Amino acid sequence: MIKVQMNECMKAVAITGERRVEILSMKIPRPKPNEVLINIRACALCTWEQRVFKGEKKTPLPLIGGHEIAGQIVALGEDVDPQQFPVGAAVAPRIIKACQSCSFCRRGVPTQCVQLNTFHLNGPDVYGMGGLAEYICLESSAVWCFNRPLPFDEMALTEPLACVLHSINRAKPLFGDDAVVIGGGIMGQLHLMCLNKMGVRTILSEPDKKRRDFALSRGCNYLIDPSSEDAVEAVKKITGGRGAQAVFNTTAIASVGEEGMRMLENTGRYVAFSSIHPDLPISLNPNWLHSSEVVLTGAVNPSIQSFEQAVNLLDKEWLDLKDLITDTYPVDKAQQAFERAIAGDAYRIVITF
Ligand SMILES: [Zn+2]
Ligand SMILES: [Zn+2]
Repeated sequence: MIKVQMNECMKAVAITGERRVEILSMKIPRPKPNEVLINIRACALCTWEQRVFKGEKKTPLPLIGGHEIAGQIVALGEDVDPQQFPVGAAVAPRIIKACQSCSFCRRGVPTQCVQLNTFHLNGPDVYGMGGLAEYICLESSAVWCFNRPLPFDEMALTEPLACVLHSINRAKPLFGDDAVVIGGGIMGQLHLMCLNKMGVRTILSEPDKKRRDFALSRGCNYLIDPSSEDAVEAVKKITGGRGAQAVFNTTAIASVGEEGMRMLENTGRYVAFSSIHPDLPISLNPNWLHSSEVVLTGAVNPSIQSFEQAVNLLDKEWLDLKDLITDTYPVDKAQQAFERAIAGDAYRIVITF
């Protein structure tokens, strides 16, 4: 059991400039009523934080990012049920806010909560979600306990897995459908793993051979190399000329998204999973949209439902994510961790505390 002195300090990893991180010393937060104090043991570096580190995404600095986290409960605020949230329990939190009282939350779509961007603040002078720190306080409703021991670095992938499950829930594929996943990075691989488990035939379009091979080794059914073949034609060929019922674009490239829409069968669903950089316009024929009855949608953040699904999948050992962790770095090597993450060939880099 970890004993925390509330006046003690903790380490936090802050992005302080372009390609620069510093370890700050901050006061350990104290749990307010209904809050849980979590000792963070692992935080994965998401593309979002990597973009801030590279200077591509502008935010107030210093930024203490980090939202893909796992850790242990160390203290409870008033009114938190110790049976439901036992001190010592291994947990993964859904760190983005769901206020439960805006019209989106009340309609069951917390991914659009109007308070989404009121991040947890580690202190008055620091901006960010706060997961890249040794401790964080969160409302108990945002915290999921695990029943089985799972390494914390793998548990930190609960949040990205939940984002992917939300994306799949948007596309609603049925048993026996065909789905195309564009891009074989970690998010593409997670889509493929989940879709395969659901009895969906999977097609990956990815120019990197290593990533295609990884997908194949994890059960992906068809591979397309878009650098050497026409990806739309290849999908049509695999699907007997029909096209796919679901297409997920996990790349940041606008033109790839446009191509992905042409892979759809009539009535199929296209999910813009990744944000697009640069945000260039794409063209589509309105009459095609009219007559094909396709659904074009996006997926952003994990829903509460998909977070529950992600925890269930990992707790039941239904998915094995350890091969998606390319490397882990102790907090004092955070600078190297960020540099490794942006090198481009990693699935996920995790910082451990
Ligand atoms: Zn993320
Ligand atoms: Zn809300």
